[in-house]
Amino acid sequence: MAKQETVEHKYVYAFAEGNKDLKELLGGKGANLAEMTNLGLPVPPGFTITTEACKAYLVTGEEPDGLADQIAAHLASLEQAMGKRLGDPEDPLLVSVRSGAKFSMPGMMETVLNVGLNDRSVQGLARQASGADAQTSGGADRFAWDSYRRLIQMFGKTVCEVPGEEFEHALDDAKRAKGTHDDLDLDADDLRGLVDAYKKIFFKHTGREFPQEPREQLDLAIRAVFESWNAERAVLYRRQERIPADLGTAVNVVAMVFGNLGPDSGTGVAFTRDPASGAQGIYGDYLANAQGEDVVAGIRNTVPLQELERLDKKSYDELLGIMARLEGHYRDLCDIEFTIERGKLWMLQTRVGKRTAAAAFVIAGQLVDEGLIDLDEALHRVNGAQLAQLMFPRFRLDHEFQPVAKGIGASPGAASGKVVFTSARAVELAAEGESVILVRRETNPDDLNGMIAAQGILTSRGGKTSHAAVVARGMGKTCVSGADEIEVNVPQRRFVVGGQTVVEGDVVSIDGTTGKVYLGEVPVMPSEVVQYFEGSLDPEHVDNPLVRAVHRIMSHADARRRLAVRTNADTGADAARARRFGAEGIGLCRTEHMFLGDRRELVERLILARDNTEREAALAALLPLQRADFEEIFREMDGMPVTVRLIDPPLHEFLPPLEQLAVNVAVAQERGEDVAQEEALLAAVRRMHEENPMLGLRGVRLGLVIPGLFAMQVRAIAEAAVTVTRSGAVARPEIMVPLVGAVQELETVRAEAEKIIAEVVGDSGVEVLIGTMIEVPRAALTAGQIAEAAQFFSFGTNDLTQMGWGFSRDDVEGAFFWRYLELGIFGISPFESIDRDGVGRLVRIAAEEGRAARPELKLGVCGEHGGDPESVHFFHEVGLDYVSCSPFRVPVARLEAGRAAVETDGSDSR
Ligand code: ADP
Ligand code: MG
Ligand code: MG
Repeated sequence: MAKQETVEHKYVYAFAEGNKDLKELLGGKGANLAEMTNLGLPVPPGFTITTEACKAYLVTGEEPDGLADQIAAHLASLEQAMGKRLGDPEDPLLVSVRSGAKFSMPGMMETVLNVGLNDRSVQGLARQASGADAQTSGGADRFAWDSYRRLIQMFGKTVCEVPGEEFEHALDDAKRAKGTHDDLDLDADDLRGLVDAYKKIFFKHTGREFPQEPREQLDLAIRAVFESWNAERAVLYRRQERIPADLGTAVNVVAMVFGNLGPDSGTGVAFTRDPASGAQGIYGDYLANAQGEDVVAGIRNTVPLQELERLDKKSYDELLGIMARLEGHYRDLCDIEFTIERGKLWMLQTRVGKRTAAAAFVIAGQLVDEGLIDLDEALHRVNGAQLAQLMFPRFRLDHEFQPVAKGIGASPGAASGKVVFTSARAVELAAEGESVILVRRETNPDDLNGMIAAQGILTSRGGKTSHAAVVARGMGKTCVSGADEIEVNVPQRRFVVGGQTVVEGDVVSIDGTTGKVYLGEVPVMPSEVVQYFEGSLDPEHVDNPLVRAVHRIMSHADARRRLAVRTNADTGADAARARRFGAEGIGLCRTEHMFLGDRRELVERLILARDNTEREAALAALLPLQRADFEEIFREMDGMPVTVRLIDPPLHEFLPPLEQLAVNVAVAQERGEDVAQEEALLAAVRRMHEENPMLGLRGVRLGLVIPGLFAMQVRAIAEAAVTVTRSGAVARPEIMVPLVGAVQELETVRAEAEKIIAEVVGDSGVEVLIGTMIEVPRAALTAGQIAEAAQFFSFGTNDLTQMGWGFSRDDVEGAFFWRYLELGIFGISPFESIDRDGVGRLVRIAAEEGRAARPELKLGVCGEHGGDPESVHFFHEVGLDYVSCSPFRVPVARLEAGRAAVETDGSDSR
């Protein structure tokens, strides 16, 4: 047989071969470098090694076949394009080796700059840098040795796991010896000395000399980037951000350009709009005479990007032109990393930028105004989680609260908590239920755990683009950065501001919108967005771009959505609030809440009734109380449907706990008091004890076992509806029977209820619907039968999840969910977001078979899932009529229902 020709797998793409839609394969950074290259923007040449190569490497621990040759070929083209060879002793080509996954994970993975430098090529680099240029050779030497020490530092830390502090200490020592705080004061000789010190550190930790062979440096750096995908902090970040664990990272090899060649060089980051507020303008930080990572690390103080206009007008104008072009091209806010090498601008990165929730709404609105996107697209670009965040309270600032410092409002929100200075302490205190504010000079990726645990983050250095700011915005966490009046002393766990000392455990408040820092706990008030929903801010007249954008996008969501949104409310006050938030009815009114407080005594009488007369007396006493509750709610919901669920929980929940009763009885006996009542209760509690109360005597089963209980509730509902209707409002009650598993259960309850309703309603014109919850798997599977007796179904997805999976919510979340999440058995708790494949399938079956049996059957959902964005999309797809959720989730559900309509039904011409 002839030797088979194998088509070699393509693992390496030149920038010119890629484009922005190849993020899965080339990572975000690589795909966008390719896009910019093809737009003709000034990008240094380079190539991208695919995520597939990474995945193959992570499986076998070895580079896949063919990869080394493909890298060699692309390197050769790069050398040709640049007219230099990698690490050439006379005139070296240097490259950066940069991670870049499909989803941006700021600072989580690795980058190594200046690959190709060694003891010989550092001299060549210095000679080339001095060249014909006006730079003094002293400056060129300094530049070359600075670049070399950076390589050893980054390579040591990233590739060989040398502890980073050791290099930092050596750098601090060098500065101290020189009597300075600024890297720039170190001259070529100092840096040459530092290179020696770094090499010793490298040797001490690795047992080998710093590798001199350029290709070996390159290969090891590529490997290290592959491996950084599984670094602990990257794993943690992915879990936090729900990024899949199996995507792998691409690796970009990019010809170096130098921002550290002198005062006419530098490096910076920029946003095309303010990522915190969404305001239009020029936002960014610039640092002269520096290499990239210095800006993000907040190591030296940057200047605002506007300063660049003064320093280098030509590059500034070119940059602004490119930013405008990128925005138009991506039709969105872009963030950018750039470097200027002796007056020549180079683009090193762009992506559609992360932004705060407020900015997401404001920018989407602006882009509609600018004609770059339509309203459907605007709706698609915001989400319910962001809206929920905008509904958090803000600080109420009375005159007694004076800020003690002002930094940069890096990520909005209002946070108060105890000051901590280390990630570990933040985690510890948060585990004890404390709110904490993590205070650092600047954060780095190792602080991630503490940032997750903290309520807010406060740093004394770094701008809007510092690590703390970027990560906090990504997490939706409040952050004030660069509050430089604060002197942070981490070892002593305290900071000093304006002569006052704040120690670990003291409370501070930070405002991530204004950047202000307060001592003590500042009281809070509702956000503008909540004020708007409450109706106290008029969106047409208020001069607040956020409120206007929210109003506009919400209105579009309402116009587009097919799902109605109802609320879960048990009181008139809740009903009224939810109505202001846009609820179109009540999907779940729990009657058991009406049995609490001083009404418990009546329930006790009901349970302890020895005969019909006693029981009827107890029920008769409950009736007017229930009726009054319903009247209030029907009045608030005038004209809208109100689904009232008949009593659901096991009755012993209304009795005192066993231990408490036993003690009471014993104590009373001791004192010789009359204990008959207590003893009877104790006996009832013992009798009614259940091993599995969630699967016991509850829901419809109660109604079938305790004569008159459901009848009393039905009468109270019907009478309340008649009273309200007679007074001129419209009551639309829907009686919902819980926990039905068989149609016969429902039929029995229904027959009795219909009799009562007919008798009470008479000719009042009130119409009462009777339906059921679908929350027992058997009900879902026999929905066709049940629909014969039900005018509506409401999916109780909490119980359906509980019984579908066979685990009890109260017990399992703490016991083993963490392990299931870790193993990927769940991506997210099925109580938080509906399990589409299993529980969702039950919903789908019930919806289809129910509708087949009774086409006008109304379908809704009233579990917690009704307010969960992912689940709302599912319920839209299944074709339910409404979702119902807690009042504060109503706007979220409206927005997500609109988004679901746009995403699944496609756009319309509106
Ligand atoms: P991150 O993903 O953490 O932002 P990058 O790969 O973007 O890491 O690298 C960090 C910084 O290093 C960049 O912002 C840029 O300033 C600098 N850098 C990377 N590649 C080059 C290069 N080829 N020339 C000059 N600077 C570079
Ligand atoms: Mg970057
Ligand atoms: Mg239930």
